[in-house]
Amino acid sequence: MRVYEDNYRHKGLRKKLIESLREKGITDEHVLEAMNKVPRHYFLDSALDDIAYEDRAFSIEENQTISQPYTVAFQTQLLKVKPNDKVLEIGTGSMYQGTVLAAMGARVLSVERHKKLYMKTKQFMLKKEYPESKIKFFNGDGFNGLLQFEPFDKIIITCGAPFIPPKLIEQLKPGGIMVIPLAEDVHHKMLRITKNMDGTLVEETFDDFSFVPMLPGINK
Ligand code: SAH
Repeated sequence: MRVYEDNYRHKGLRKKLIESLREKGITDEHVLEAMNKVPRHYFLDSALDDIAYEDRAFSIEENQTISQPYTVAFQTQLLKVKPNDKVLEIGTGSMYQGTVLAAMGARVLSVERHKKLYMKTKQFMLKKEYPESKIKFFNGDGFNGLLQFEPFDKIIITCGAPFIPPKLIEQLKPGGIMVIPLAEDVHHKMLRITKNMDGTLVEETFDDFSFVPMLPGINK
C-alpha cells in the first residue's frame, strides 16, 4: 500500500508554487492558503512526486487529467467560496480540486461519470481530515446535477461543457455562483454565472483554458 508522506521538500516546492500563482495574478489569500495546505502529490502517481508542484496538468486514469494548479486557483477564486458553502463539483477526477474547496471550509458534493475514478474515491487518502460531511463523492452524470441535494450555493464544472446545463442552473440557489468552462472552438471560455435573487442570470467572461470534454452519461 502506498504511504503518503508530506515532507519538508514537498512543503518547500508547494510554497514556491503558491508564490508563482501569486505572480500569475491569483490574489485571494484564502485560495492560496488552501492550496498551500493540500498536498497535490498525494493525488498523482508516486512516480510524479518530483514534478507534482510544477504548474501543469497531468494525466490520471481513464485518459482524464488533474487540472493545472493555475486553473484550479483561477476557478476557485471566481467561485468566491465561503465557509459552509454547499458546493457541487462536476468532474471529480483526481479529487484535488474538490479537496481544495473542502480545505476552504466548503461542504463539497462531487460527481464523476467514470465508475473507475469514482471507485478510487473510496480510498480517499485525506478521509480523516475531510470526512463525508466535508466532501462526498458520487458516480453520476453531471448534466443532471444532484437533485436530492439541491439547491447549491456554488457550482464548479471542471470539464469543458458544450453548453450551460439547464438542470445545473435550476439547482443553483438565488444569489449563487456557477463557474463553467464553455466550449468555443478548441478552447474553453471561463464563465462566471451569478443567479440574482429574482432568478435572472449575470454572465461574466474570463480567459481561455483547455479541459477534457464534459460528456453525457455514465462510463462503467
Ligand atoms: N476536478 C478534477 C479535474 C478532472 S478532469 C481534478 O481536480 O482532478 C474532468 C473530469 O470530469 C474527468 O474525470 C471526467 O471524467 C469528468 N466528467 C466529464 N464529463 C462529466 C459528466 N457529465 N459528469 C461528471 N463528470 C464528468
